[in-house]
Amino acid sequence: MKKHIIDRGGNRVLTLYSVDTKSYQEFDGLPPVSSTDAHMRWHPLRQEWIGHASARQGRTFLPNQADCPLCVMSNNEQPTDIPVDDYEVAIFTNRFSALSPYASAPPSLEIDTKAGIGRCDVISYSADHDANLASLSIERISLLIQAIGDKVSENYEQEDIVWSLPFENRGREIGVTLDHPHGQIYSLSVLPNAIKIQADAMAKSNPLSGLYDSISEELLLDKAETAISYVPRWARYPFETWVMPKRTVDGPQDLRADEILDLAQMIKAAAMRLDKIYDAPMPYTLAWQVAPKGYEGKFHFHLCFQPLKRGRNKQKFLASVEQISGFFLVDLQPERAAAILRSEEAGDE
Ligand SMILES: [Zn+2]
Repeated sequence: MKKHIIDRGGNRVLTLYSVDTKSYQEFDGLPPVSSTDAHMRWHPLRQEWIGHASARQGRTFLPNQADCPLCVMSNNEQPTDIPVDDYEVAIFTNRFSALSPYASAPPSLEIDTKAGIGRCDVISYSADHDANLASLSIERISLLIQAIGDKVSENYEQEDIVWSLPFENRGREIGVTLDHPHGQIYSLSVLPNAIKIQADAMAKSNPLSGLYDSISEELLLDKAETAISYVPRWARYPFETWVMPKRTVDGPQDLRADEILDLAQMIKAAAMRLDKIYDAPMPYTLAWQVAPKGYEGKFHFHLCFQPLKRGRNKQKFLASVEQISGFFLVDLQPERAAAILRSEEAGDE
C-alpha cells in the first residue's frame, strides 16, 4: 500500500492510499470550517458523555453530483474535499468535525463538561461517485481495509484517543447526507458505556474466538481459510451480518495479506447479499469493531452490518422500547435470515 499525505490547512489532513505509487495533480479544494465550539456534557443519569457540535448544522446536505465534495477535481471552479485529479481510497479530516484534537475549553455549566477532544475522519471508498461496497473490486476493498487499519493506528498514537469507530451509514433512509460511497471514523477521548461493556465481556470470556470452528451451519454464510461471515444467533436487526477473521486480532491494522483478501471477499459478498434480498440497495449501518485502548490482545475484531429493512417496503425503525431501553424486539429469526441471505428462501414482501 502506498500513501500520499497532503496538509490541507486549518488542521486538516488528506491521506491518499493506492495499491501502487501514484502521482496526483493538486488543486485548492474547499476551505476549512471552524468548529471550535465542540464540547461534551455529562448525562448524570445515563452516566455518559453527550457530544455537542453546532458547526455540523451547516454541513453539506445531499448535493448534486456536480457539487459532491468527495468527487475529484479538474479545475479550481468546483472545489471538493479531495482536491486531486484522481485517487483510489482517500481519508481526510471531516470539515464539519464533531470532535477535534484542538477543541477549545468547554463552557462552564452546572453539570460536568469536557473539551470535545477527538477526531472525525471521512473515508472515500473510490473516486467513482456511483460505486458501493457491493460493486467495488476485491482489490479496492482490500486497500480500504488496509487504509482503515493505517488510520486507526495513527489515531491511537494520539495519547487522549481511547477508541476509534470506523463505520458507514448507507442509504438516505438513515440520514446519509452524501450519496458518494464513503464511511467515517470517529475517534473518541471517552469510551462509550456500550463499547466498554462489550470490550469487558470479550476480555472476560471471548465469545467470538472459537466461533470459526463451532458456528452452526444454519447461521453460516461464508467460510474461508482465515475468515467467516454469519448471522449471529443474537442478531438485533433483520439480516444482521457479521464478518470476521478466524484469528483474534485488535483491528484491520493487524491482519495478514491472506486475511485481508478473505475479509475483502466476504465484505463484498455480504453487501451483495443484502442488496439482493429486495433487488434494491439495502440501507444499513456498518461498524468496524476494533479493540479500544487497554484491550489489546483481548478483543476479536469484527464487522457488523446492521440492515434497516425488514420487508420490501418496510423499514425497521428504532422506536420507543429500543431507543429508551436498548431492549430490542426482533421479528425475523436469525436462522431464517441466514437462509434468506443464502437464497434458500425468498424475503418477505
Ligand atoms: Zn461524488
